[in-house]
Parts: sequence; C-alpha cells; structure tokens
Amino acid sequence: IFIFMCLYSIFSHYATGINFDKYDDILVDVSGSNPPKAIMTFDEAGLCESLRRNVTKSGYVKPTPVQKHGIPIISAGRDLMACAQTGSGKTAAFLLPILQRLMVDGVAASKFSEVQEPEAIIVAPTRELINQIYLEARKFAYGTCVRPVVVYGGINTGYTIREVLKGCNVLCGTPGRLLDIIGRGKVGLSKLRYLVLDEADRMLDMGFEPDMRKLVGSPGMPSKEDRQTLMFSATYPEDIQRMAADFLKVDYIFLAVGVVGGACSDVEQTIIQVDQYSKRDQLLDVLKSTGNERTMVFVETKRSADFIATFLCQEKISTTSIHGDREQREREKALSDFRLGQCPVLVATSVAARGLDIEQVQHVVNFDLPSSIDEYVHRIGRTGRCGNIGRAVSFFNPESDTPLARSLVKVLSGAQQEVPKWLEEIAFSAHGTTGFNPRGKVFASTDTRKGGSFKTDEPPQASAPSPAVAADDEEWE
Ligand code: AMP
Repeated sequence: IFIFMCLYSIFSHYATGINFDKYDDILVDVSGSNPPKAIMTFDEAGLCESLRRNVTKSGYVKPTPVQKHGIPIISAGRDLMACAQTGSGKTAAFLLPILQRLMVDGVAASKFSEVQEPEAIIVAPTRELINQIYLEARKFAYGTCVRPVVVYGGINTGYTIREVLKGCNVLCGTPGRLLDIIGRGKVGLSKLRYLVLDEADRMLDMGFEPDMRKLVGSPGMPSKEDRQTLMFSATYPEDIQRMAADFLKVDYIFLAVGVVGGACSDVEQTIIQVDQYSKRDQLLDVLKSTGNERTMVFVETKRSADFIATFLCQEKISTTSIHGDREQREREKALSDFRLGQCPVLVATSVAARGLDIEQVQHVVNFDLPSSIDEYVHRIGRTGRCGNIGRAVSFFNPESDTPLARSLVKVLSGAQQEVPKWLEEIAFSAHGTTGFNPRGKVFASTDTRKGGSFKTDEPPQASAPSPAVAADDEEWE
C-alpha cells in the first residue's frame, strides 16, 4: 500500500482543462539557423520505454507546443532560448530530452562518491520552483538509473550534501546553495553536458546575474561550446536576451510560443480602480464572491503580506502567507495548507509568483499591482494553467500604478479581455512604459537577432523594463 501511495503521489496530476486543445492553435515562432522539425506526438520523440511509460502515467496524452518544438531542438543538441507562458509544459520540454539522451548514452548509474559529477544542472530562482522541477525530474526518471537531487537554502547543508553524495546525475538548485556546494568541492563539473536556466529573465537580471556568471566561470565548467545551454522564461526583455547570448552558442534557437489564444486568454482579467484606503474592503468583497475557491493574493512587501493575512484571519477567512522572511518550514507548510485547501487564501509576495504550479488556483488578486508588466503576466499565470479557466482581479491605484497603465491595456487587449474605459484614458494620458498598441502583440518577446523583422504586422516595440528586483523580497540563498 505504501509503495502504491508513493507511486500515486509521484504521478499525481490534475486533469487538463477544457481549453487544453486550444493549445493547438497557439502560434509558434522558431528562429535561428536550421531548426529541427517539430514533433506532433510523444511517440515521435523516440523516448525509451521507461520514460514513455512515465509520460503516460503522468497523464500526458499529447505534447504542448513548447514540447512539440522544444523536445526535437534539445534532442538535436542545439542551445535554446525559449519564451513560453507559465503552465505551458516547459518543464517536461527540457527534462524529457535531457533524460532521454542520458539514458541513450548509458549514463553511469548514480552511486556514492565523495565528489559527484552531474551531467545536468538546472537552476531556478526560488526554492519552491526548484523543488517543483525536482519533483517533475524524479517523476520522469522513475525506474531509471538517473538520480535527480535538489539543493536549496533553508534546509540543513549537511543533509543536502549527504543527499548529493549518494549519487547525482541531475542537480537542481537555487543559485546560492548550488555555488556553495560546488565551492565545497562536493560537485565537480567536468561531466556537465546540460545547463538549464528556468525563469531565465530573473536568473539574468541584476539580482542573480553575478551568481550565474560565477557558475559558468566555476573551475571545470565546460565552455558554452562544450555544453548545451537551455533557457526558459515567459518573457525576455531585450537587454536580457543580449546578456543571455553570452551563455549560449552563437547558433542558438529562439522559440517563442504565442500569447494570443494561450494561457493568458484562459485567464479572465478584471481591473478595479481603487484608492489605497479602500483596498482592504474591496479585497473582502472579492473574497466573499470567491467562496472556498483557491485564491492567491499578491502584495508588495513582506510586511503587508503578514498584515493582510492577519487581517483576513480576523475576518474569519482561512488564510496563510508565503514570503522570503518566513522560514523554509513555514513556507512549505503554507504551500501545503494552500494546496490541500485547508487555507483557501494564500497571501504572497512576488517570490511566490514565479513558476509555482499549484493545482486549481481559481483566482489571483493583485492587491498591489507589481511595477513591471512582466511580473503581472507571471502572477496571473498562477491561474488558468494547463488549459483551465482562471480569474485575476487587480486593484489599480492611479496614484501608484499609472506607469503600468499602457502595458496593462496592451496585455488585456492582447488576451481579448475587456479594457475599462477609465484605464484606457489613464493609459493615453500616461507617460508610457511601453509603446501603446491596443491590439497587443502575438509573442511576449521576439528574437532580438531578427533586428526588427517581426512576424506580426506591428512595428517593433521596446519591451517592458526587466522586473525590478525588490530588495525586500530578494531570495538570497
Ligand atoms: P509547466 O509549464 O512545466 O509548469 O507545466 C504546467 C503543468 O502542465 C504541470 O502540471 C504539468 O504536469 C502539466 N503538463 C505539462 N505537459 C503536459 C502535457 N503534454 N499534457 C498534460 N499536462 C501537461
């Protein structure tokens, strides 16, 4: 029974929603020289039997667009910069071809050694996200000789090192802890073949860039010519793309998975005009209408996360919170209370916005809007995942949020959402953050190497500024 339950939890998955087939209509743009042909089915991916079985057990019937294109690109040994929405299936898009290649090449079965030499390193900005990637890796590697391990801050270093030394083919980690373990000589890099950066825009912004440069400059790290580097992110501001090119081979492939008809339009987005003092009452109104549906409430600072969570508890709404100041144990407890539905409301800072795949989040409330539109897209991506319909309500305070108005209008209209008249007016009169184009654009980012040859019929636009790194919520490991 125990084994059955373990297996059940490894392969537990949620039903793909009614809009899952809509993924087939998503526009995809592949650029770079000689891109490999896309696959249409998992059978065409040529996965070995155990991987194929694990894909089936995970409930995946057909590949999502990022998988259809990403899997053959990675299998062909090409470097990749992939721009795909949250919830688009990007984790499997990189894990499956990596695991497949490791199996085909007969990777040495993991065994105890004082120094481990992983074949793949996967880096992500937050503990929760890297843990989620690790769980996916463990699921797909089940029954094979490939051993994934996860390392992140907040768990005992001795324990982490012991886990690594037991054997490690695929090392998943947050930057700080990863560099720490490499620095202690517990992990050698000479066998490394794959370096994956998830949420690459965040990994290369001013918060993490030095760590990333340190990682690729670590002793033994194969040069970019001798390893395969893969980057995934929902957005790629132009400056980040240029920086990313330092980490990639010249002939990397840029894969953009469209926004129109994608995960974004599976989220019903509402913007409510508020002033600072009416926000709490508005929040109560929204939460009263959501009943027991799982709702994530985003706030700007750790302090207001605690404050709002306490306020909601006083109002008899079962609420928990997650932010960078809470201990790892508390963060995991909060996530599990939310996942299990014990606390249907989770108050979070941006740290929690990135990549978390939580089953059935029906609502996202932006109590405080973020300062960058990229962050907004990430946040609302917590809902409407995997083809399910979600709702996002955002409180727009003209005093603080006006700089976001133009890009907000653009995102709303790009995802065929109703744009409130008052917001359009604010957007027209605001000093813009991005070029105002009510029709929106098809891809969240386009390949900067194209020098302005866009597939859509709109002129190239300056992309939104890279997400500001809120010192308050920085995830230093
Ligand atoms: P990701 O974008 O990697 O975070 O994936 C979002 C969710 O979609 C995860 O729960 C995956 O397990 C699920 N998923 C990914 N690929 C597929 C697929 N081909 N079919 C069904 N579900 C999928």
